[in-house]
Amino acid sequence: MHDRLLKDQVVVVGCGLAGLSAACVLAARGHRVVVLEKNDWLGGKAAVLEQDGFRFDMGPTILTLPSVLHRVFQEAGKRLEDYLHLVPLDPQWRCFFEDGGLLDLHADIATMQETLKTFTGDSQVAEGYGRFMAMSRRLHDVSERFFFWKSVGGIGDTLDTTGMFSAAVLKDVLSLRMGSSVASVVRSHLADPRTAQMVDHFTQYVGSSPSASPAVLCGIAHMQTQEGIWYPLGGTRAIPDALIKLAQELGVEFRMSCDVAQIRTAGNSVVGVELTSGEAIQAQAVVSNCDAVRTHRELLREHPAPSRLSRKRDIEPACSGVVLYLGLKERYEHLLHHNFVFSQSPDEEFEWIYQRGLPAPDPTCYVCAPAVSEPAVAPDGGEALYVLVHTPYLRPNHDWSQLLPEYREVILDKLERTAGLNGLRQRIVSEHSLTPADIHSRYRVLNGAIYGVASHGKYLGAFKSANRSPELKGLYLAGGAAHPGPGMPMVLMSGWIAADALDQDCQAV
Ligand SMILES: Cc1cc2nc3c(=O)[nH]c(=O)nc-3n(C[C@H](O)[C@H](O)[C@H](O)COP(=O)(O)OP(=O)(O)OC[C@H]3O[C@@H](n4cnc5c(N)ncnc54)[C@H](O)[C@@H]3O)c2cc1C
Repeated sequence: MHDRLLKDQVVVVGCGLAGLSAACVLAARGHRVVVLEKNDWLGGKAAVLEQDGFRFDMGPTILTLPSVLHRVFQEAGKRLEDYLHLVPLDPQWRCFFEDGGLLDLHADIATMQETLKTFTGDSQVAEGYGRFMAMSRRLHDVSERFFFWKSVGGIGDTLDTTGMFSAAVLKDVLSLRMGSSVASVVRSHLADPRTAQMVDHFTQYVGSSPSASPAVLCGIAHMQTQEGIWYPLGGTRAIPDALIKLAQELGVEFRMSCDVAQIRTAGNSVVGVELTSGEAIQAQAVVSNCDAVRTHRELLREHPAPSRLSRKRDIEPACSGVVLYLGLKERYEHLLHHNFVFSQSPDEEFEWIYQRGLPAPDPTCYVCAPAVSEPAVAPDGGEALYVLVHTPYLRPNHDWSQLLPEYREVILDKLERTAGLNGLRQRIVSEHSLTPADIHSRYRVLNGAIYGVASHGKYLGAFKSANRSPELKGLYLAGGAAHPGPGMPMVLMSGWIAADALDQDCQAV
């Protein structure tokens, strides 16, 4: 890679996982890359908190689709295994229900069907699960062919016009069940309410309501069972660390505490960036890993936002969240690495979060107990417990300095009542928290949204901003609010797509 002639300079604005992925791919293909990050750490939301002998991942904890990471390393002719040690987790989640029911999600479909037979006492639920997973697989296959690994901003970009009218393509399009929601499709396969609640919770990976999200997102279930859930030893933080190491080997320059104030343009072309310090940096192209909507609103003020980004209904932020980081002096042995402690009524819960815009009084809590896989995250016998509760995106009337103390008690009560974490308050010896307001300012996202733009809309909800700007030559978008969407594997893919599009455009010149 290094012996190739270095091409003109590319600036990457923001150093989240998408920015890192883009930087690695571009450098591997011979571009000179400078990454500018406003924070004094690299990796964005994949940050770490070390406190009182505990180590907490601050943001993402569930890693799926490791094939995307492999592909980024393969670009540079490297093996992921030489940079990162991934451990498989199966059962993937443990689910706790308000009625005392406990259900483990297994990757293997036959094992899961047996588990469901025992859990529900109804063999039809097991059959329905089998049918649902077959459909999920088909949706994922269609996404792989039409949606992934290329810059897509709308339905037109997904279609290869030469094959558009073939019967096979028509069958694929019909299988997407456009006009149906995740919740309706899940319930048409799974009559058991607790099993349906578990399965449609996959839409929480993209911070969206199952009843408003398009059925194509049912494909997430297959992605997780097919490739598994993995834990990187050293925690999620090991992922950006591995990418930073690769990027440095490829000659990428990183500059921290560099706040980009604007992307500079001449006519309809990008020519560089300007920092808040006034420093100007020239570039042949810019990859923005800053939120896609905010990139247009704040960094490109002289250019009107493209139509899709200016329509209010197209830019509904995804949900936000509260995270409690609880250093416990003693572990709970009945927790798995990943656990979901479900609300009694998902309809009510999602109505609070996605319609009323207020924290749900009976929330679902995601609980990560990493000491199961890596005891070193806590002092001897302890646990670095991580509790994430989804909340509405940030509204002007939300004052989280006022809301948090009361909501903390709601969350701790829920964990004691539904997950049997008895005596939880007495076990806490160290504590920290993250609110929607913190997420908003730390990562400069849209209204504190964890997962970019909501995937709401039964026809077009899965579409985000294209990675190659249709308006400005030399501008590329990577990150959770750009195609193909949020979550670690998707943003890593979005970085790859942005870099690939940029590289192709350079070769075309
Ligand atoms: C609490 C939480 C839990 C999550 N759980 C999971 C999970 O379990 N599994 C999963 O797959 N995903 C999860 N996610 C989502 C996942 O973390 C994100 O989708 C992904 O990390 C986003 O990466 P990104 O590169 O798009 O953005 P970011 O990580 O937000 O990076 C963008 C970077 O750009 C910088 N920036 C912005 N504007 C500027 C500017 N003007 N100048 C310079 N720098 C700028 C920001 O400081 C930031 O570092 C979670 C997220 C959170 C917050």
